[in-house]
Amino acid sequence: MLKLLKIVRDAGEVTIKYPFAPAEFTPTFRGKPEYDPKRCISCAACAIACPPNALTIETDLEKGVRTWQFCAGRCIFCGRCEEVCPTRALRLSQEFELAVMRKDDLYERCTFSLCHCRQCGTPFAPQKEVDYALALTMQANGMTEEDPDQRRQFETCPQCKRKQTLGLKPRQEV
Ligand code: SF4
Ligand code: SF4
Repeated sequence: MLKLLKIVRDAGEVTIKYPFAPAEFTPTFRGKPEYDPKRCISCAACAIACPPNALTIETDLEKGVRTWQFCAGRCIFCGRCEEVCPTRALRLSQEFELAVMRKDDLYERCTFSLCHCRQCGTPFAPQKEVDYALALTMQANGMTEEDPDQRRQFETCPQCKRKQTLGLKPRQEV
């Protein structure tokens, strides 16, 4: 018994006072992903990478919208979403107290409008993603002003582009 008491005394305090005192973290502690809808382009890279499907993307072609959704109840704080997000719209925070009173409060959602093809009118990609791709191309080519023809090309769906290409090829080959 005395030996045990000596071990306890030598060990000192090994527990933390949380929740009566703030918890302390290492700088690399991974908590709830923080989402910035202004930066998000609805590209779906995070939803594809998320192992437990805490992130999902749903596209409604009839309404012409895409919905991004995060469920805190499924997140395992692995950080894959942060790694793959091209715009840094998702960053892991140090937030870990995620209890809520209503199940729906575990969810975070954001809706984006889709770009309608200039040729056939079909919604085919989020407008923000199209704008982002156009801005990257302009930056890569050192352009300061937008070219309307280039925007028309970016706002044309893959099927119509394919038809255009097929329609052009015979004339080029003649
Ligand atoms: S941290 Fe991991 S589990 Fe959580 S949303 Fe991101 S990818 Fe999904
Ligand atoms: S990867 Fe980033 S930009 Fe793409 S949908 Fe997820 S949060 Fe939005």
